[in-house]
Amino acid sequence: PPDVEQLGKASWSLLHTLAARYPNEPNAEQQSDMGQFISLFAKLYPCWFCAKDFKKYIEENKPVLESQEKFGRWLCDAHNSVNVKIGKPKFDCNLWRQRWKDGWDN
Ligand code: FAD
Repeated sequence: PPDVEQLGKASWSLLHTLAARYPNEPNAEQQSDMGQFISLFAKLYPCWFCAKDFKKYIEENKPVLESQEKFGRWLCDAHNSVNVKIGKPKFDCNLWRQRWKDGWDN
């Protein structure tokens, strides 16, 4: 359905942009805040079958919050798990920073 796709594209944009603005050396509060955000995001995501699988993914693959690089990679892997699930090609996670921080047109 188109709204699941539009919602998805907008949501990944928000999530990866948050990762690109996450500190290189996050303190305990910053790590806790992002962990809670991801958990609540998964709980409240307004596509129920997406949310169901994403919650399960997060339980099995806890967010890695120790640095911007680690969180960015974790999020890229999480996005790839959805790509695989819906038959889209995997994204090369070596390029996540270039895509979402330094930026290229999409
Ligand atoms: P998107 O997958 O939305 O990606 C947007 C852009 O991000 C791409 O153009 C690319 O430049 C970049 N990108 C792609 N992969 C990565 C990556 N791994 N890391 C970093 N950047 C990347 N749809 C369903 O049909 N079923 C589901 O179960 C489902 N679950 C979802 C769960 C979540 C939490 C979210 C946020 C979305 C989910 N979606 C689901 C939507 C789906 O992931 C896509 O957003 C949607 O299909 C639109 O795809 P798109 O081709 O526009 O690119």
